[in-house]
Amino acid sequence: MFILHSLLTILWPKICISCKNEGTHLCEDCLATISPNKEVFSHNSPSLTGLLSATSIKEPLIQKALAHYKNPPFLRDLSSQFAFLIISHVLNSHNEKLLNNSVLLPIPVPKKEQRRRGFNHIKEITRELSSSLNIPIVSIKELPNKRILLVDDIYDTGERMEDMASKLKKQGAQDIWGMVVAR
Ligand SMILES: [Zn+2]
Repeated sequence: MFILHSLLTILWPKICISCKNEGTHLCEDCLATISPNKEVFSHNSPSLTGLLSATSIKEPLIQKALAHYKNPPFLRDLSSQFAFLIISHVLNSHNEKLLNNSVLLPIPVPKKEQRRRGFNHIKEITRELSSSLNIPIVSIKELPNKRILLVDDIYDTGERMEDMASKLKKQGAQDIWGMVVAR
């Protein structure tokens, strides 16, 4: 596997989707041009306590990154940059305390979508968050009595997140926060 991976890297070096420099799919310099939201988005949600949205969907580079992640060429590694942006937002908005006594739950992705990509794009971001923040990932079947950070890529109409959050509420969850890359 290692040899195969090295060979692939030589044949297809990772190139930044923005500046085209070699090394990663989105280099540190370009990543730094995406400004994380400083405020928590407040809205009247019956089920969510709040929404942590790393950045704005209006950022052209985030649109490009998400498109290259979810569609061909399926740049799976971008999940670590998305997790980095989410963590930066949590710190910039002074919400570190939300990371205590919390668990991560990825929004379910239909099997058909997973097959098309070859990976679960939400779980991938959730895994990165889990290893960087040292917060466990739980399943909807076994919800602990802790704050739930519900992970998704984009908060659009909010319908998908609302549906999931109301399901969790019915199962007894009290404090549910949305955690997304962009809205
Ligand atoms: Zn770059």
